[in-house]
Amino acid sequence: MEYIIGADIGTTSTKAVLYDMKGNVIAYANKGYQLYQDEPGMAEEDPDDIFEAIIDVLSQVMRKGKVKPDELKGVSFSSAMHSLILMDENDEPLTRAITWADNRAAKYSDQLKENGLGKEIYAKTGTPIHPMAPLSKILWIKNEKPELFSKTKKFIDLKTYVFFKLFGEYNMEYSIASATGMFNIFELKWEPQALEMLGLSEDKLPNLVEPTDKISGIDPSYGKVTGITADVPFIYGASDGVLSNLGVNAIDPGVLAVTIGTSGAVRVVVDKPVVDPNGNLFCYALTKDKWVVGGPVNNGGIVFRWVRDQLFAPEKITAEQMQISSYDILTQIAEKIPAGSDGLLFHPYLGGERAPIWNAYARGSFFGLTRQHTRAHMVRSALEGIVYNLYMVMLMIEGVAGKPKSIQATGGFARSELWRQMLADIFEQDVTIPESFESSCLGAAVLGMYSLGYIDDLSEVKNMVGVTNVHKPNSENFEVYRELLPIWIRLSKVLEPEYKSIADFQNKYMKN
Ligand code: ADP
Repeated sequence: MEYIIGADIGTTSTKAVLYDMKGNVIAYANKGYQLYQDEPGMAEEDPDDIFEAIIDVLSQVMRKGKVKPDELKGVSFSSAMHSLILMDENDEPLTRAITWADNRAAKYSDQLKENGLGKEIYAKTGTPIHPMAPLSKILWIKNEKPELFSKTKKFIDLKTYVFFKLFGEYNMEYSIASATGMFNIFELKWEPQALEMLGLSEDKLPNLVEPTDKISGIDPSYGKVTGITADVPFIYGASDGVLSNLGVNAIDPGVLAVTIGTSGAVRVVVDKPVVDPNGNLFCYALTKDKWVVGGPVNNGGIVFRWVRDQLFAPEKITAEQMQISSYDILTQIAEKIPAGSDGLLFHPYLGGERAPIWNAYARGSFFGLTRQHTRAHMVRSALEGIVYNLYMVMLMIEGVAGKPKSIQATGGFARSELWRQMLADIFEQDVTIPESFESSCLGAAVLGMYSLGYIDDLSEVKNMVGVTNVHKPNSENFEVYRELLPIWIRLSKVLEPEYKSIADFQNKYMKN
């Protein structure tokens, strides 16, 4: 037999999946690690915890799959984006890995937005100006921890760290690089304007390689524990977001990947890098000629969870007693209300928002309440509001990448038939729910198969991903949504100027 491993370095855990060359799962392993949050805004991980986790999951799948040394044809990597590790002269980390969720660079991304430099840099890098991006984080470190900045030999990310430990070279592939905010996506090189702004020379950053490039010669000590021999190629791979598009079979033009998990995202693959004139969308590399345009959304299923906990606490207790999902009880309640919730609109910005409005001060609201509206209307309206917000991201994507033709949707929301149908009705598109298991690992493995010549085209993934549900838009419903969506969108613009005033008030008076 011939096998390939797809591994994903995530924010809370690392996973490895052993596949055969048809994409069948042979073995799986997962190992978690701690997120350090010692001060407000901090979200860090220990790079060595992560490296140990990688070694552990690789060893586990080799063992569980009873893989003979010559049967493993490659190992290919996915990783979370935007992490930053500072390395010293002796190639030891000076910091933990500062993750995408770390918010401490907010002051510096605000500065970049206000002085206009951010917009110019975005137009070349395709990474929205935000504290998540290494661009903002390095600026923060330069200003607030200058001693660390000056001691740094290399600014790298988690995946570069893992490859450095395994092979002794600092190489970063285009996909992770395209999410740093410092990589010119049109010229495939570090962007001089970003480096100049940071006072960084290019030698402080890793060498750039292609996602399909590979390296072999694993350090013998790690080769021994994992059972992986020195001739096995490691494919650099790409980031988790773009590989998840591949892993759910949203790779062909016009096929939109929509995720509603705790947070959410809308993404589509295009064949050339594109940027949004207003800086609201990202454009990250999958390969040199496949790019993923999209928007990350904070307010996905977490908002539904808030509705359950705050408005339906008794139902939650009943569900626990009956050992059924409390979300199922709530969606049954919402189902009794007609599409459009009798004109009750909900803006889901309970946690500030990234795409589509990129406003950390944004807050949630119900609009249009009457005495006829009930809690049941509120739950339906919340589910609809989450989808309207994703629809707004889709409209922005449509502006730069053309009209979508279908949707592949994933995440916890897909457990609800009502919510899946709502997505089809609001977007007026066919929605397919792929049979997805660790889609970023599958994406990494498929990219690896492509790099190794086992498949000629990434779209071969269609033969590896099953389908669980298909939904067609219901015309009675989408006509209602067509009337409501313009009101919801206009209302977003009306509310926007007041978000900061109410957030300031809350920050002043609200006790945590
Ligand atoms: P994560 O994004 O953290 O990996 P999931 O993809 O499992 O998590 O998504 C969790 C969210 O999915 C929950 O917050 C909830 O909104 C939603 N969800 C979970 N189960 C159901 C269900 N049965 N019906 C509707 N929504 C659900």
